[in-house]
Amino acid sequence: MLPQEIIRKKRDGGTLTAAEIGFLIGGLVDGRVTEGQVAALAMAIFFRGMTLDERVGLTEAMMRSGTVLEWGDLGLPGPVLDKHSTGGVGDNVSLMLAPAVAACGAFVPMISGRGLGHGGGTLDKLDSIPGYVSQPDIGLFRKVVREAGCAIIGQTADLAPADKRLYAIRDVTATVESVPLITASILSKKLAAGLQGLVMDVKTGSGAFMTTLEEARELAESLAAVANQAGLPTTALITAMDQPLASAAGNAVEVQNAVDFLTGEHRDPRLLEVVVALGSEMLLIGGLARDPAEGGSRIRRALDDGAAAETFSRMVVALGGPADLLARPDAHLPAAPVIAPVGAERAGVVAAIDTRAVGLAVIALGGGRTRAEDRIDPAVGLTQLAGVGTRVSSDDPLCLVHARNTDDAETAARAVRLAYTIGETAPESADPVLARIGEHAAS
Ligand code: URA
Repeated sequence: MLPQEIIRKKRDGGTLTAAEIGFLIGGLVDGRVTEGQVAALAMAIFFRGMTLDERVGLTEAMMRSGTVLEWGDLGLPGPVLDKHSTGGVGDNVSLMLAPAVAACGAFVPMISGRGLGHGGGTLDKLDSIPGYVSQPDIGLFRKVVREAGCAIIGQTADLAPADKRLYAIRDVTATVESVPLITASILSKKLAAGLQGLVMDVKTGSGAFMTTLEEARELAESLAAVANQAGLPTTALITAMDQPLASAAGNAVEVQNAVDFLTGEHRDPRLLEVVVALGSEMLLIGGLARDPAEGGSRIRRALDDGAAAETFSRMVVALGGPADLLARPDAHLPAAPVIAPVGAERAGVVAAIDTRAVGLAVIALGGGRTRAEDRIDPAVGLTQLAGVGTRVSSDDPLCLVHARNTDDAETAARAVRLAYTIGETAPESADPVLARIGEHAAS
């Protein structure tokens, strides 16, 4: 096979075979195919798209480029499940969802990423817990999943290495925003994790990668169709990211928010709805609930009776974190030296939030990266973020800013004020779960 002939075929709108795709992806990893050729292929895919069979071929070829985890030898007494979110602002769902689902009898090996663009990354959040080993070797990862029921860790170099190479090429060749390429990128890593069921949380709105509902639906349908055809039972929910999901955005502040959620000290209502909906879908796909109502009530019970909190604590300890994180989060999570309220420009009701701008304000505080090699400041961020429909005034702030110094705090305050639209009346409150896509009937 000649790489240039395969690229030509896709360039001219042809359909590639699994063998042709496998040849190019294999060649990317072993050096037989150049980065320039893969960049040209990515651009051809960007313009010509891919059929379902081609997407499955690309996903499986990338999955096969590295280690594929096996869980069968552990004899786990429950299904191996995961959730993946396309990301957003204040999206700390994984921190409470993984232990809640594990407390209901599933095993959750959750491989998460660092912040991407304006969105936060679960891995960066976990790194704010002192001692927590977020990149353990596979042996420790498997042990923690078996003993605690869940382990949330970072991407390891040996899972789908072709995706890492291809993503780096896409990033610098304007080929990130392609549904077939995003589908294969996400699912190759999930298939390599050896899961028995997956629930995708595809976000839409001003803080999402896919801002419109149509784009989110196209991606969700592609993810569900490709995963199911590749043998991984998958359902996708489309959920709103038109405002931060948690009332905190940052790293340690989102862990604190998750701790409060797990202990029952404080639960942001929209966040709770999304956690319950995703958890219910996971139990359904894993055969641990007969219908969404049963799934939802099992997740709520695990949250309310402390079983999810206990599981989270076991995971943190098994990965090297403090045993009393839930009891004394203040003693362990880093705090910023400056904490100041951001007053609203005028009194009124929050009508809309430019959520991407809120995420960018967190990055500017030092809570995210502008270059891959940047170190992030785990302590900075925003808390008590007013949601859409909340009454605000100069005395009822938009949020609290946590900053390294007063200059940074003022810059963030200006950005947050600009991100908020204040009106006279509250918009109708909407369910954060917008749609469900998948072959697995929610009877
Ligand atoms: N997340 C991924 O892992 N890959 C993409 O292509 C986009 C988002």
